[in-house]
Amino acid sequence: MKNKENIVYFWQESIWAQLAGAWEQQRMPHGLLLAGPAGLGKNRFARVLAGFVMCREDRPARRPCGQCKGCALMAAGSHPDFRWLSVPEDRKTIGIDQARDIVNWMRLTSFLGGYKVVVIDDADLVTREAANSLLKTLEEPAGASLLMLVSKRPHGLLATVRSRCQLLRFTRPGHAAALQWLKTQDNGADWPRLLFLAGGAPLRALAMHRDGFADLDRQFSADLSAIISGSKDPVAVSAVWEKQPSSVWLEWLQTVVLGMIRARAAGTAKIEECEPVHLIQGAVNINLARLHHYLDDLVAARKRSERGGLRADLMTAAMLIPWACGLDYRSIYQED
Ligand SMILES: [Zn+2]
Repeated sequence: MKNKENIVYFWQESIWAQLAGAWEQQRMPHGLLLAGPAGLGKNRFARVLAGFVMCREDRPARRPCGQCKGCALMAAGSHPDFRWLSVPEDRKTIGIDQARDIVNWMRLTSFLGGYKVVVIDDADLVTREAANSLLKTLEEPAGASLLMLVSKRPHGLLATVRSRCQLLRFTRPGHAAALQWLKTQDNGADWPRLLFLAGGAPLRALAMHRDGFADLDRQFSADLSAIISGSKDPVAVSAVWEKQPSSVWLEWLQTVVLGMIRARAAGTAKIEECEPVHLIQGAVNINLARLHHYLDDLVAARKRSERGGLRADLMTAAMLIPWACGLDYRSIYQED
């Protein structure tokens, strides 16, 4: 178990080699920004790197040894020199109280005499005030310390914080390599389709598979085809869809519509990932400009939905009815 947990994913190897090299040359930065889309394992990477830094023994093959006191404490989640900071469940941001707590803790001498490591997950959700307080830690690091900021939206960080961290950009692996890796996880899934729905992020595809998303995808696809062909009433379908969180079907619709647009742009030839247009029967005839227009609406609806205050039933119907008329409709979400 130790070894497997200490291995980074294949699409992270080059970032790992870069950091292991910096470590060997004693050039490990004090601040790292792990940036990239969800589903690429940035959090796990941060944990493995923290474990590597905390390892007290020689690190065989540039990995934590998995045996020493430092490794044992990390595995048990009780290393006194390691902190993981995230947005509390009852809040939407990481506030000044949490940041001050971390800054004060960073000033303390290391308990085990080695590094002090902090990971801040969703670092773009740190308030401006809290970020300013963390800046001191980045500007004048106390002793051997490492601050890792993890973010899906790195542009949401204060520029002053961003510029003091070394940027590690996590990118999606190539399509074929991702599929090959997914097959080693489970041979029985429709990985091309799931990887497409996951926006190319392998861990996202894996999570979707484990959550049984393929069934939902089939239902959504069949319903949408039925609305397009006129065999199902969009209002009746929306009554079923609205039982799902709106984020689920909105994201699904957005991915599928984007796929339709990309397939159209690539001509009728099959696009690399799969053929999403053909999975939604009838969609192939929809005008491209209308697809773009609808996509803009979807994006606007997702934003409104994230802010809250939209009636789920009305929004579901509003996003499904246009399919009954070939997406020839007037927008309700966009301002002129
Ligand atoms: Zn160790």
